Amino acid sequence: MKVIVLGAGIIGTSSAWFLQKDGHEVTVIDRQPSVALETSFANGCQISVSHAEPWANPSAPLKILRWLGQEDAPLLYRFSANWLQWSWTLRFLRECTTRRTIENIKHIVALADYSRLTLQQVRAETSINYDCLTKGILHFYTDQKEFDGSLAAAKLMRELGCPRQHIKPDEVVQLEPSLAQMRYKIVGGDFTASDESGDIYKFTAGLAQQSMEAGVNFEFNTSIIRLITDNNEISRKITSVEVQRADGQIEILYADAFVLALGSFSEQLAKPLGINLMIYPGKGYSATYPVINPDTAPTISLIDDGFKLVTSRLGDRLRVAGTCEFNGYSTELNEVRCAALTRRTQELFPDACDYRQPLYWSGLRPLTPSNVPYIGKTNITNLYLNTGHGTLGWTMGCGSGRAIADIISGRQPEVEFPFHRF
Ligand SMILES: Cc1cc2nc3c(=O)[nH]c(=O)nc-3n(C[C@H](O)[C@H](O)[C@H](O)COP(=O)(O)OP(=O)(O)OC[C@H]3O[C@@H](n4cnc5c(N)ncnc54)[C@H](O)[C@@H]3O)c2cc1C
Repeated sequence: MKVIVLGAGIIGTSSAWFLQKDGHEVTVIDRQPSVALETSFANGCQISVSHAEPWANPSAPLKILRWLGQEDAPLLYRFSANWLQWSWTLRFLRECTTRRTIENIKHIVALADYSRLTLQQVRAETSINYDCLTKGILHFYTDQKEFDGSLAAAKLMRELGCPRQHIKPDEVVQLEPSLAQMRYKIVGGDFTASDESGDIYKFTAGLAQQSMEAGVNFEFNTSIIRLITDNNEISRKITSVEVQRADGQIEILYADAFVLALGSFSEQLAKPLGINLMIYPGKGYSATYPVINPDTAPTISLIDDGFKLVTSRLGDRLRVAGTCEFNGYSTELNEVRCAALTRRTQELFPDACDYRQPLYWSGLRPLTPSNVPYIGKTNITNLYLNTGHGTLGWTMGCGSGRAIADIISGRQPEVEFPFHRF
């Protein structure tokens, strides 16, 4: 079958990889000159099955209210006249009940766990070098109330099979000695040895390279304008996609099946087809610093609970990422938020990096209210969704690619997950 994958982030690229393995003729279309140049470019790099709690949880509404108007807040909500933002927010609030939160965590953990296993298999098969570290994720707390509040979430994770163990402040420092000078502030931590970290961009670029060698066709510098359907009222089908090349030329590309993997931009393309996706961009920031003193830079991937930041060591670089701003589709860098990243990293690891020329970046997380992605068929016979992976698209990426290839190839995916018809 001829399949067109729309979008070449981690989700589109992993979908293409598994589709070509199933013997399909695959084309991937992206407006950028290469793969993974939007949200899959410089994220936090954690493969974080054990921290699958969605932002929509019972404590979220109060925290968000408290942070309103605070420029360097971990989560900053800016009100706009955008209808999607308002309806998304109402759905988000509905997902904040205890019952919905637990249900969502179960789905996310199941997919994330399956995805980490799939990533490990792909890594073994392809030998892609992406600065992968399998040293676990260490979450440290500097606020007693937050630490006490985390006990229930960690217990739920353990019940779901994640070995997330609570540890004492001294054990935090034993595991990651670069935190020694912060010991007096740390009130506790938890550690999950089975989690990982690695550079999402390097991985996606390596997978795309091997996909090309296996026959996948990538059409870069090509903007997707719209999907075209036939006029069959009973079982509607997509016949083709209208695209615009870099030179302005409009073209129509045909296929038997289409996979929508446009991250935060999926909603706009699906809407004219009558498919209303609740995906709103959650802008996040990262900073990357050259490591100049490897002995004082962390190697275990960290979550700094007080500042809601994650840290991953990528070879001779240190990546720090986090924060969220609900502010539409702009990726413009806010200086206050950038400076807050460097201030905190310098406080944690003063001698580890050269902080003079940080590489700042921002990306748009494709957030659903529940953080559970849309993966599966739609009411249009040959249109499939693989989008809305929110805060955990790297963690859930390989498994989502494999699952959509299974569905398109007529197999039941090997993971318990709500693969609805949308
Ligand atoms: C600051 C930050 C930190 C994060 N940290 C982590 C982490 O530690 N662990 C984790 O698991 N996840 C993390 N994430 C989330 C993760 O990065 C995303 O969920 C994931 O990258 C989304 O991948 P995607 O393929 O769906 O979207 P994208 O990577 O955005 O891919 C979509 C592609 O579609 C293309 N496109 C869009 N519109 C069009 C169009 N009209 N025509 C042609 N092409 C188009 C874009 O060019 C893009 O290449 C983080 C995100 C951010 C922002």
